[in-house]
Amino acid sequence: MSIQSIDKEFIAGTYNRFPVEIVSGKGSLVYDETGKEYIDMGSGIGVTSFGIADDAWQQAIIRQIGQVQHMSNLYYTQPCALLAEQLCKKTGMKKVFFSNSGAEANECAIKVARKYAADKYGPQRHIIVTLKNSFHGRTLTTLSATGQEHYHELFQPLTPGFVSVEAGDLETLQYMATQGKVAGVLMECIQGEGGVLPVSREFAQGLAELCQREDILLMVDEVQTGNGRTGQLYSYMHYGLTPDVVSTAKGLAGGLPLGATLLSQKVEKVLGFGDHGSTFGGNPVSCAAALSILERLDDDLLAEVRAKGAWLKEAFEGAAGIQAVTGMGLMLGLKTVKPASQVVKQCMEQGVLCLTAKDKLRLLPALNIPWDTLKKAAAIILDACAEG
Ligand SMILES: *Cc1c(COP(=O)(O)O)cnc(C)c1O
Repeated sequence: MSIQSIDKEFIAGTYNRFPVEIVSGKGSLVYDETGKEYIDMGSGIGVTSFGIADDAWQQAIIRQIGQVQHMSNLYYTQPCALLAEQLCKKTGMKKVFFSNSGAEANECAIKVARKYAADKYGPQRHIIVTLKNSFHGRTLTTLSATGQEHYHELFQPLTPGFVSVEAGDLETLQYMATQGKVAGVLMECIQGEGGVLPVSREFAQGLAELCQREDILLMVDEVQTGNGRTGQLYSYMHYGLTPDVVSTAKGLAGGLPLGATLLSQKVEKVLGFGDHGSTFGGNPVSCAAALSILERLDDDLLAEVRAKGAWLKEAFEGAAGIQAVTGMGLMLGLKTVKPASQVVKQCMEQGVLCLTAKDKLRLLPALNIPWDTLKKAAAIILDACAEG
């Protein structure tokens, strides 16, 4: 039996896969079971930050796997300590809690907000406000945080205590804040799954001021936007924000599972012994991988991400079959005249793998995609959008 039919028989039917089996790759190129080459403009949904099987990343993992691949969090291990130190040095945050995914990183953020507010103001102050059209994960609680009704329908009852408001609606937020029940606000600066939609500067700054004034935690979900993706280390840096909590995952370890929740001075002591934990969180191999990624996310690399993003934007803006381009750095959304799914299909035939987000074509290439590869992919995408 083929892999595709074994998969169909034995894997739970939650993924509508393309009829392509990826067997190997290097950098921004991947190969299917027939040997066909593709330029990867999705990087596993923004995960393989330096592409497939990157040499330095591989070396870091191999070295660590030969030393110790896992220990319980009952003991100290080097990679998670050094990674936490680097994350704090680069952001000004004070403490890190490690988990394995974006949803878990958000779960931790939500727990911190609940505990911070309950300790200080009492248990009635427990509401977490999120934005409509957001995406925060698939666990029941992060689904509850996700401001999209269609994700909720099948899984009632959800975790109580979440309210979503329209991005930009500071008035409603202001009203809610004065009711004394809001513990925190969790938002993506650029909604990824929601269609690559950046929030406005005015809204982000107004929200930050409101949170500061009312002692409501400002929590930024950097699961997709983080780790260099938008041309800054974290997307909140484009907005001049100083969040109380930052969650991240996806690209953090370049392709191994790792989530991190970064805590500012205000909340660094909220979680104490036994308040939270994870068996795999802070795994030494994942953390060694993340260290090899993070040390390369320097100013030069970030400038290159911005330059590539700007080049792509210019190539796509006003092109035939493209109505709008949104996003920052190498996180871009294209509103296409044709259905985005059709563009994806045509690109795949021509050897380029792209993503969608809502009605948009979504591009999240590796941060180090070579210029010539990027230009080749852009030409194929432009053709696919224009054609027919
Ligand atoms: C992908 C994503 C998540 C969920 O991450 P998982 O690792 O799939 O749990 C949460 N928030 C945002 C913004 C995401 O893009």
